[in-house]
Amino acid sequence: MPLNPPAIDSLHDILPEEPLLMMGAGPVPIPEPVAAANGIVINHLGETMARVLDQVKRMGRYIFQTETPWIMGVAGPGSAAMEMAVINLVTPGCRVLSICNGFFSHRLSEMASRVGGNVERWTVPDGQSADPEQIVEVIKRFRPQVLTMVQGETSNTTFNHRLPEIAKVASEHDCLVVVDAVCTLSTMPLKMDEWQVDAVITGGQKGLSCIPGVSLVAFSEKAWAHIENRSQPVAHWTLDAKLAANFWHKASYHYTAPVSGLLALHEAMRLVCDETLARRYERHRVCSQALQAGIERLGLELYVPKAARLNSVVGIRLPENMPAATVCGHISKHYRVEIAGSFGPPIVRIGQMGEQCRVHNLFRTLHALGSTFKDLGVAVEVPAAMAELENALQRQKRGSEL
Ligand SMILES: *Cc1c(COP(=O)(O)O)cnc(C)c1O
Repeated sequence: MPLNPPAIDSLHDILPEEPLLMMGAGPVPIPEPVAAANGIVINHLGETMARVLDQVKRMGRYIFQTETPWIMGVAGPGSAAMEMAVINLVTPGCRVLSICNGFFSHRLSEMASRVGGNVERWTVPDGQSADPEQIVEVIKRFRPQVLTMVQGETSNTTFNHRLPEIAKVASEHDCLVVVDAVCTLSTMPLKMDEWQVDAVITGGQKGLSCIPGVSLVAFSEKAWAHIENRSQPVAHWTLDAKLAANFWHKASYHYTAPVSGLLALHEAMRLVCDETLARRYERHRVCSQALQAGIERLGLELYVPKAARLNSVVGIRLPENMPAATVCGHISKHYRVEIAGSFGPPIVRIGQMGEQCRVHNLFRTLHALGSTFKDLGVAVEVPAAMAELENALQRQKRGSEL
């Protein structure tokens, strides 16, 4: 019996008439030039692509703040870039220290362990960032060859603000430092060379405000020497960095690159360069902190204390007995704003990455959040919070162009 084609609705019928404002933990809204570039297909090899790749690498050096030539894209999610960094640097039996702040940093440790790494996990309690004084003791005892950590832990909105000190001490002990900057890259300072980081990972759909599914990884010269010298080939052909270098550095074939995604990435990175990192960091800081002030003025509690709080994703503690799904469902249905639940802690999360950090999006989101809690019977002060948002922006702006 031949199978008949299924009855299918057109996308037009599936997609909402009025798009939702994507204020969750990623993907985030994309600027028009990124969307337009994503609609183009060109040859994956040849002169035009070579120019695109050359510019992506040059922009990457600026955005990662590094002089390393070893920047390459990955056809895949942020997780594929994580995996590419981990499996090219970790060999069986290699001692790996994984600083675990939550879901994503734990994923790095899992990847290291799956390729046979001898993984020690250092678990940081929720609400705190990793403490270099403690890490140095573990480094001295365990003598890791690779250290993995996140700059920002999206899952519970923690910021490892002492990353520079941790990377420095690890480097001094001859340990390669792998940093996941998926949600933070281009939203806050990350100085790969100055901080002696050996591999930086990012995805498209968060800090860079690009599409999901195309990612970037940068390896230091030291990390690259390690990759060149490994005796055993990497088990995963597609994520083998040496093979990827054929495409990224020798204009030859590895696999058919996600050309549309790379064009989109090019545009997202060009917009970062146009804005400059300094102004972009400032925009993220000002917007996120103003939003946080507004949320607190509503009468809600931010999940992470100020010292360890991430600006890129803001975590809001839920009132007792109120599931995240109720809040996320209500705000989406009634206010057409999408926010995120969590993978564990009793919070909802609002993203402050890329296009999410625009003043008009802050007002709409704070109003939607406040109104949602009010509808759900929580005593919140919406007018006062809206005024606080405006006041906080005025206080913080100091002439920055938002
Ligand atoms: C989202 C995220 C990832 C995973 O990215 P995917 O594209 O979902 O694979 C990894 N690390 C951090 C810190 C993230 O925020």
